Amino acid sequence: MNLPVQTQGLSKRYGGLTAVRDLDLTVRAGEVYGFLGPNGAGKTTTLRMLLGLVRPSAGTVRLLGRTPGAGRLTGVGALIEGPAFYPYLSGRDNLRVLARYAGVGADRIATVLDLVDLTSRAGDRYTGYSLGMKQRLGVAAALLKDPRLLILDEPTNGLDPAGIADMRALIRRLGAAGCTVLVSSHLLGEVEQICDRIGVIVGGRMVAEGSVAELCGSAGLRVLADPLD
Ligand code: ATP
Repeated sequence: MNLPVQTQGLSKRYGGLTAVRDLDLTVRAGEVYGFLGPNGAGKTTTLRMLLGLVRPSAGTVRLLGRTPGAGRLTGVGALIEGPAFYPYLSGRDNLRVLARYAGVGADRIATVLDLVDLTSRAGDRYTGYSLGMKQRLGVAAALLKDPRLLILDEPTNGLDPAGIADMRALIRRLGAAGCTVLVSSHLLGEVEQICDRIGVIVGGRMVAEGSVAELCGSAGLRVLADPLD
């Protein structure tokens, strides 16, 4: 069985700055993996390398057993940048447009709207959505092709407390449904609530990895505590 994510010695240098250094990251099938680190730690750069959007300076990436960049990323959904939606179309119609490009049937749209808890607001214009709803529509778009692996870059960033709670509940639901999720965050309390395993990245290096139970008692990690707690 291929691992959903496996990197070895992954590094990225920008001129004199090493954004990611010698990173070994493994995400196992069926787990919600929290990629935890403060701002500027190298989370987004790592996720971009996983998806083949940024070329590593060194090291290897395998996603579902394949090397990204060498063809289509089948089985992988991602939300790592605010997705571009049409402001004056409804949430449902935005998904219809994307589904058509992705070759996905209309029945899947109803399923993903349900999954992200937007069915009741699916006919509303995107412009009227809260930030949290917009993020959940982004997750719905990432789920259109029923991926085995979902990669989310700080999906609760900038959301109000209700939006944060809804997004965390969504990630827990996806994990419970058997989807493998790799989610980045700078909040220890957040990964503590929603993840099975955590990797901690600081200054581009993986400094700790383990189950929530193993890592969350660690005093050093309290600097990343959740301000909502
Ligand atoms: P944040 O939570 O703030 O997004 P992050 O953990 O995702 O942080 P990255 O965005 O990966 O961190 O950035 C890691 C480091 O690499 C930072 O010092 C950043 O300034 C630098 N960096 C990222 N992208 C580039 C780029 N295209 N060119 C130069 N430096 C970059």
